[in-house]
Amino acid sequence: MIVESFFGSFGGRYVPEVLRTPLDELETAFREAMEDETFKNEFARLCKNYIGRPTPLLFAENATEKLGGSRIYIKLEGLANTGAHKINNAIGQALLAKRLGKKRIIAETGAGQHGIATAAVCAKLGLECRVYMGEVDIKRQHPNVFWMELYGAEVVPVGSGSRTLKDAVNEALRDWAGSFPDTHYLLGSALGPSPYPDMVREFQSVIGKETEKQIAGMEVEALVACVGGGSNAIGFFYPFIDKPFPRLIGVEAGGRGSLIGDNACRMDGTGKIGIVQGYKSLFLMDDDGQLQATHSISAGLDYPGIGPQLAGLGKKGRIEFKKASDTEALDALRFFARNEGIIFALESAHAGAEAIKMAHNGDPEKALIVNMSGRGDKDIFISAMALAPRDWILFLKEEMKIYEG
Ligand SMILES: *Cc1c(COP(=O)(O)O)cnc(C)c1O
Repeated sequence: MIVESFFGSFGGRYVPEVLRTPLDELETAFREAMEDETFKNEFARLCKNYIGRPTPLLFAENATEKLGGSRIYIKLEGLANTGAHKINNAIGQALLAKRLGKKRIIAETGAGQHGIATAAVCAKLGLECRVYMGEVDIKRQHPNVFWMELYGAEVVPVGSGSRTLKDAVNEALRDWAGSFPDTHYLLGSALGPSPYPDMVREFQSVIGKETEKQIAGMEVEALVACVGGGSNAIGFFYPFIDKPFPRLIGVEAGGRGSLIGDNACRMDGTGKIGIVQGYKSLFLMDDDGQLQATHSISAGLDYPGIGPQLAGLGKKGRIEFKKASDTEALDALRFFARNEGIIFALESAHAGAEAIKMAHNGDPEKALIVNMSGRGDKDIFISAMALAPRDWILFLKEEMKIYEG
């Protein structure tokens, strides 16, 4: 198998000299593993028994009837162990690390979901795990820190820069430059220097391969996925990117408005070509090349960069990019909870929101397939505050009383 490094003009490997050796080693190991039946069987076995794959494809018949247009189907990645798609990639890379004889895993995390998936697979595969996390994120995401530590991971606060995700990535890269003989850097989305985008895409394409089988014989109008860094979307879309149909629709975070800093839309013309954290892609940045602040109600969609393969396919026109606002995502969360008994993660609810818009005017003979990248239990602090604030605040106050005595 050939590892793809460039996607159109995006991608590549722009790293300091010290990182060339570990990236070369990783690329070779990945290429060999993909041709090794033993490795592939082990990945498939863990996907089945540990992650709980294949995840179902649900016909959302009540939602379809309510909207009166295209048939809506939901790929339930939220039923995967740890509650989201991120574990597909974490398992794949952790198995590669073992194959390379590494004893230790490091990872970055923003909201904490990638940290949780990584910590869980390290527990399962007997690997030491350290997760770098910005101090600001640690404060905001305490429950996720708790879970990571319960899985046995060490969570290391990063106090440099804006003390968020991009600083955690820098810290992980710094660690790796000095530790790669026994350490693997388990990166969380389909971005970063080659071979990460292609490797993460490969492990996540288990979503698309299952979907392809599940939709056999159906007339499909479009596949719809939310796009943060882009790993669930590229994994879901991958088997279809070289075909003219169905339409592939990526949904970015429209946030609270169109001003800079109020959203995380890179593909609406706002993203600028840049080279950041080892790869060339489109980024939200100012004229000095500094990454800009972003906003989204969902913590997983607020990264200022986008995976290079998605950027390339967007530029080519194969993938269409849309946006859903914070409010539209919350409406979609409520709609699918009420009508289907399913709680979308706020990230995935952006894809759900676009499917609702499309289904309204859609062809009743055709299907829209939505990837529910994760389930929404993790979002209760945000969702309850947004949808039922009075009761939620009352609950938090009562809880505090118990501890304050
Ligand atoms: C992290 C996350 C995302 C965004 O990441 P991608 O790499 O764009 O997939 C989307 N949905 C959920 C549930 C997540 O946890």
